Amino acid sequence: MPSSSFWTREGNWYKGQFHTHTINSDGAASPAEIVTSYRKRGYDFLAIADHNRLTRVEKAPEGLLMISGEEITAGVAEMGGEFHFVAVNIKEAIDPKKYTSPQAIIDAVRAQGGGVIIAHPYWSALTLNDMLPLHDYFGVEVYNSSCHYSIGKGNSANQWDDLLARNIRVYGFANDDAHHHCNDHRPDDVANAYIMVKAAACTTEHIMAAVAAGEFYACSGPGDGPVIKDFFIENGYAVANTSKAKLVTIAADCGRGFGESYAAAKRGLITEATYKLRGREKYVRLEVADADGKTAWSNPVFL
Ligand SMILES: [Zn+2]
Ligand SMILES: [Zn+2]
Repeated sequence: MPSSSFWTREGNWYKGQFHTHTINSDGAASPAEIVTSYRKRGYDFLAIADHNRLTRVEKAPEGLLMISGEEITAGVAEMGGEFHFVAVNIKEAIDPKKYTSPQAIIDAVRAQGGGVIIAHPYWSALTLNDMLPLHDYFGVEVYNSSCHYSIGKGNSANQWDDLLARNIRVYGFANDDAHHHCNDHRPDDVANAYIMVKAAACTTEHIMAAVAAGEFYACSGPGDGPVIKDFFIENGYAVANTSKAKLVTIAADCGRGFGESYAAAKRGLITEATYKLRGREKYVRLEVADADGKTAWSNPVFL
């Protein structure tokens, strides 16, 4: 038995994401169109997060769990941008004008029983100075596919590591942020990102409990990305089992070259990686890229 297994929860894997827009804010698709689109692409749960309002869906397609969501604009960041918070599982819309700080908005979401994801830190040019004072949120979008396809700033792993290295224990999410703003050089923006959650059942209660416990991993698409089968600590090693991959990286927080990547170049695609812990790592996390460059990010395992 591994001494520290990544997945402790019994249950099934469910695919979903928490951040997409409709015509109720700046999206181009109706709520009915967007939910049908996600269900057709195999998503099990979805939150619509329109800007500063709650979009309620009267009738979701069979098999698609709708969880409430809102993308809340909050405060001015160091470099002049804004914080965007994806609030999930809230009961009432939150009007940012009523709050005097970004943290007050996070607290208001939590008071409703919901949770906050900091949206697209790279796209927003959020700095450590912006994010270090914040607390009691779920995590950050390590990947936002619309930010990737629009201006190449979808991957916020660097900002995430900056937080983790300071012992701020937050999770990494992947969201589409779909607006249906597609053109000849920008693909359909539905189903390019998702999280896989291991939960006892696909209900709001079970999905949110698993998310709060970090029992999920994030993926970029399009379609299905790599699978993280297991990631655990055993006898002084971090051990990863994955679907066939071109590059598997076990990332660690320390400088001096800690962590290790395994490339498939000479051995065909790979499905395993191990990393001997040096003893000074605060955490390790896993990144897996398949032959098409689609990537999966595990949550950190804290040591
Ligand atoms: Zn945003
Ligand atoms: Zn958005």
